[in-house]
Amino acid sequence: EVILSVRDLTADVDGTPILKGLNLEIKAGEIHAVMGPNGSGKSTFSKVLAGHPAYTVTGGEIIFQGQNLLELEPEERARSGIFLAFQYPLEIPGVSNLDFLRVAYNSRRKHQGLEELDAFDFDDLIQDKLEIVKMNPSFLSRSVNEGFSGGEKKRNEILQMAILEPKLAILDETDSGLDIDALKIVANGVNQLANADNSMLVITHYQRLLDYIIPDFVHVMEGGRIVTSGTKELALELESRGYDWIKEEEAAEV
Ligand code: ADP
Ligand code: MG
Ligand code: MG
Repeated sequence: EVILSVRDLTADVDGTPILKGLNLEIKAGEIHAVMGPNGSGKSTFSKVLAGHPAYTVTGGEIIFQGQNLLELEPEERARSGIFLAFQYPLEIPGVSNLDFLRVAYNSRRKHQGLEELDAFDFDDLIQDKLEIVKMNPSFLSRSVNEGFSGGEKKRNEILQMAILEPKLAILDETDSGLDIDALKIVANGVNQLANADNSMLVITHYQRLLDYIIPDFVHVMEGGRIVTSGTKELALELESRGYDWIKEEEAAEV
């Protein structure tokens, strides 16, 4: 079952082309890693998938579970089963983490034609999920992400993913500020939540993350396109040889 199919995707920021013909197919049960040097367009790709308004798609298509993703508003994308970690790291003073999660969860259930869970049933559900991320229940009564440390925000992000049970989870690990503990939180979450029905897209600058997550496929982005794909051995090769040899091989092919 194909979950996500991206074909010849091109996108601009302020009239500057950033994505330049990106192709990617993800099937159910697969974990994909997207790597690549700084500025290659990894975060732009995740923002385009999210429907971030600063990015204009100029060509190509994105099909998610048979649906044209580009026609959907960001909220509809979330309800239909795409989870984008960075959509939720905002601090929301005055809204408890528990209420926030219940509203997000029920909005997804409604979209699936299911009845909303009341506060008591939701409480049971969330207790199970807390164990996955080893999060202290006291975080549920605090305002969303307010005053959370980097590691706690990361844990909260994985908790959101565990609750929403997305069909496709996209995690863009930005290029700075992720310490080894945060990497492990992300990796544990991905490993525990990945199953035969869903898929994961892990975007990272770090080979390190892939010591903890074993991807089925590794893709390398360069200049707004995926230029090489392989298995986890490719990530190891990148670790020892860097990215420059990929540019050289590409140049040699032209
Ligand atoms: P990566 O995540 O691989 O490091 P990005 O997607 O963040 O790469 O950036 C790719 C290119 O697009 C960079 O040259 C960056 O400066 C440019 N870019 C990304 N977002 C914006 C923006 N909002 N405005 C202007 N340029 C941007
Ligand atoms: Mg960057
Ligand atoms: Mg980035």
